[in-house]
Amino acid sequence: MMMLTRKMIEIRSLLQTIGQSETLTLPSIVVVGSQSSGKSSVLEAIVGHEFLPKGSNMVTRRPIELTLVNTPKSHAEYGEFPALGLGKITDFSQIQKTLTDLNLAVPEKDCVSDDPIQLRISSPNVPDLSLIDLPGYIQVEAFDQPTELKVKIQELCEKYIQPPNVILAISAADVDLANSTALRASRRVDPRGERTIGVVTKMDLVDPQRGASILADKNYPLRLGYVGVVCKIPQESRSLFKRGSANILNAITKNESAYFNAHPDAYGERSRVLTGTPNLRKKLMHVLESTMSASLASTSEAIQHELAEATYEFKVQYNERPLSAESYLAESLDAFKHSFKGFSDSFGRKDVREIVKRELDQQVLNLLAQRYWNKPVESLQPKDELQEGVHEPLESLPKAEPENMPLWNLKLDASTSTLTKLGIGRLATGVAAQAVQENVQGLVSNSTFNAHPFAVKAITEASENILRDLSFETSDELEICVKPYKYRVEVDDAEWKRGRDNISEVLKHELKDCESAMKVVEEQIGGRRKAKDVITFIDKVRNGDVVLENGSVGGAGGFSAALLKKGREALFLRDRSDILRMRLAAIKSRQCANPKNKYHCPEVFLDAVADKLTTTADLFLDAELLSKYYYQFPRRLEQEFRSLDESTVERFAREDPKIRRHLDLVRRKEGLEHVLKEMESLRHLEAREKRQAGRG
Ligand code: GDP
Repeated sequence: MMMLTRKMIEIRSLLQTIGQSETLTLPSIVVVGSQSSGKSSVLEAIVGHEFLPKGSNMVTRRPIELTLVNTPKSHAEYGEFPALGLGKITDFSQIQKTLTDLNLAVPEKDCVSDDPIQLRISSPNVPDLSLIDLPGYIQVEAFDQPTELKVKIQELCEKYIQPPNVILAISAADVDLANSTALRASRRVDPRGERTIGVVTKMDLVDPQRGASILADKNYPLRLGYVGVVCKIPQESRSLFKRGSANILNAITKNESAYFNAHPDAYGERSRVLTGTPNLRKKLMHVLESTMSASLASTSEAIQHELAEATYEFKVQYNERPLSAESYLAESLDAFKHSFKGFSDSFGRKDVREIVKRELDQQVLNLLAQRYWNKPVESLQPKDELQEGVHEPLESLPKAEPENMPLWNLKLDASTSTLTKLGIGRLATGVAAQAVQENVQGLVSNSTFNAHPFAVKAITEASENILRDLSFETSDELEICVKPYKYRVEVDDAEWKRGRDNISEVLKHELKDCESAMKVVEEQIGGRRKAKDVITFIDKVRNGDVVLENGSVGGAGGFSAALLKKGREALFLRDRSDILRMRLAAIKSRQCANPKNKYHCPEVFLDAVADKLTTTADLFLDAELLSKYYYQFPRRLEQEFRSLDESTVERFAREDPKIRRHLDLVRRKEGLEHVLKEMESLRHLEAREKRQAGRG
């Protein structure tokens, strides 16, 4: 018969993994008793080890779902917490410590939690049993215990002692049964005493005659009867069991049977009362088996019902699309790689060229501003080595034969040299790599990975690392490639024309920017007119028409310091716009159509130089940075994601609530199907045992 119980307990555990549901479970034995009734001692006597939390202030705060697994072929005794994944724990004091920690983790304000701790104990010395240890009823509240605790414990126990569970009501012999909280509670839910086993502990503390009359109780008759026990570990053996691994079963039973044997009149066979832990174990096994058997049909029906619902939901909501954490990851990765392929096919040399050129256009603008365009606008004027002492107003740009004007030659040569020695390698590689990174980030945002912070981080980092490594080599090599330009740059007619067209656009753009910036500053000053007043005043100061008393610190001319600062900004923008307009006109002029006049038209020449640098850079970046990156990145992703362990993949998939629900449903369905199959084989087993029993 025992095989059946084992199977049923297994099914009970399976059902637990599918999810807590009132109907979807097989009955268990719930152990209730008031504090100090000897509840822990009884459970430990059944298990053969001290493993429950102890201590004067230790109140059990969570139910313990205890599954005992008889392993006749093995000597090993160990416990497992399936939900914690701590593996097999052979040291029972360690189990005790873990239970204590789990208890302490329940927040003080919650008092108790109804989330059960699952503990499986395997041993050749335990029977196949499923027991639920509940917090002990509080009778006398300790001064530091909240009153709520008492009520919450009652409520928790109430929930568990409902049918079809078997109630193991623990009462101490030295307390009148009429006062037993456990029996009173059980009476409320099982008034006819049909599924309650009475355990009377501490039988050694009462006179044997009285003890026997308690067990034969007629006031509170229980169909499953009473069992009297002495579960105390004898003092002399106690010191032997300190190590937490020795079995206490023998010591207890010996002590117990010595006591009951010493009083044959009261507890002998003729007395017809049931005593002793071994008898209690047998009774528990027997009662559990028959109770579970009786529930099989209804549980099986409940499972079928749940399965039908899960199957329907799977069909309607998910179109029967199978899903596992691994398949989800694989699909996500494939989809991402696909979108990356799309990006790598479309983002190439042309795009890099645009990005690099845009950056160099800015550099050319800066150079022009520094070396050609600036006016001494007080503190806004940038410092420049050529500037010192050789500043020429722009109006004096050579009109003809600049060759005879060494300053202008020098200016253009110095500007060209600054441009070619700018560190094109670093600069171009940097902007190209950044653009790639931004694009990849965009791909991530549009992918399923976006719902997974962990994946976003992994992908971003993988991409950054590859780009960083490639950038080091690429920028150095590119620098070498542009080296010739550092000595001499020849610009032919076609290049000149392209430069002229391009720089006109750049300047027009810059002019627009200046004008809109001007509008903003004017508004900040308080309108166009007021801005004009401030600018006129600053102009006067600059031309020496007005002398400020204390320098320009603080306000002046009726304008606050802040206003003057804004005024200087406006002035700068006005000057910049004037110059841009003037230079745009110059570039358009016939003179700038001829490359020979490069000293007249530094803008065009510098643009042409920037263009040459860009051509070298884009070719190189395409070959060295992009194609290597396009090769390496998907492979790196593959490596990273395919090597994740199972639990990480699981965590990953569950990060997305939609996927989590889908996964849960698929699992639930699979779990139910599995349990149903197990139930089926159990039914066969049961039928066979019945036939054999009939024959025997
Ligand atoms: P719980 O609070 O209900 O879990 O009670 P415990 O199992 O911790 O027992 C309370 C006290 O009663 C402990 O000091 C035990 O040693 C003692 N005790 C338990 N069972 C017996 C017994 O059968 N006989 C005697 N004399 N003491 C017992």
